[in-house]
Amino acid sequence: MPLLTVQNLSKAYGPHRVVDVPAFALEAGAQVALRGESGSGKTTFLHLIAGILAPDAGRIELAGREVAALGEAARDRLRAETIGYIFQTFNLLQGHTVLENVELGMAFGRGVDRAHAEALLKRVGLGDKLGHYPRQLSTGQQQRVAVARALANRPKLVLADEPTGNLDTRNSREALALIREVCRENGAALLLVSHDEGVLGQFEQVQDFAALNQASVP
Ligand code: ADP
Ligand code: MG
Repeated sequence: MPLLTVQNLSKAYGPHRVVDVPAFALEAGAQVALRGESGSGKTTFLHLIAGILAPDAGRIELAGREVAALGEAARDRLRAETIGYIFQTFNLLQGHTVLENVELGMAFGRGVDRAHAEALLKRVGLGDKLGHYPRQLSTGQQQRVAVARALANRPKLVLADEPTGNLDTRNSREALALIREVCRENGAALLLVSHDEGVLGQFEQVQDFAALNQASVP
């Protein structure tokens, strides 16, 4: 059974249907990139899967459970425990240290596990930056905090939205390799969206989002 199954998922903003995905599935442990132009609905699609946005219609099955069939609290818990999210703009909490940023993610999920948070931060090369604030870090280092945070709850699925869009080419290549390695090491599948051929070219499995998404985006 796939880790993630999406059926007839749709979302409109006012009169504009932005997402209309009849079917999508992702196997456990897979690493798949979705290629799509800017404005084609990629972020909306990831937000729907992550529960950041509610769909107008459709089914999302995650780890064998139909998400909409759960009560709100159970749904939030399933998502917190199953999904890690790497945002394009990182979304770090600026008033909190590197370690706190990772631990706060855990507080909503399986509970704070300082040893695991420190191990992840060490793994992404930030073992000596635990007490730093995000603004004291380079963009590439902030992105690595976001990577550690995404893995904090031992998710089965990591969603990554143009995760290297704010990095230069060399940092981008290294960051992407790191994301792929830590997902593999931690047994998480990776679903990444991007419009960048340099990023997409590093994936063995690339799907065209336009072929999945039947919405005629304005
Ligand atoms: P992508 O990530 O592929 O660039 P998005 O999912 O961000 O695409 O956006 C798809 C379309 O939906 C765009 O036309 C965008 O302007 C529109 N859109 C995104 N978010 C909103 C919103 N909150 N309200 C209205 N329109 C939105
Ligand atoms: Mg986007």
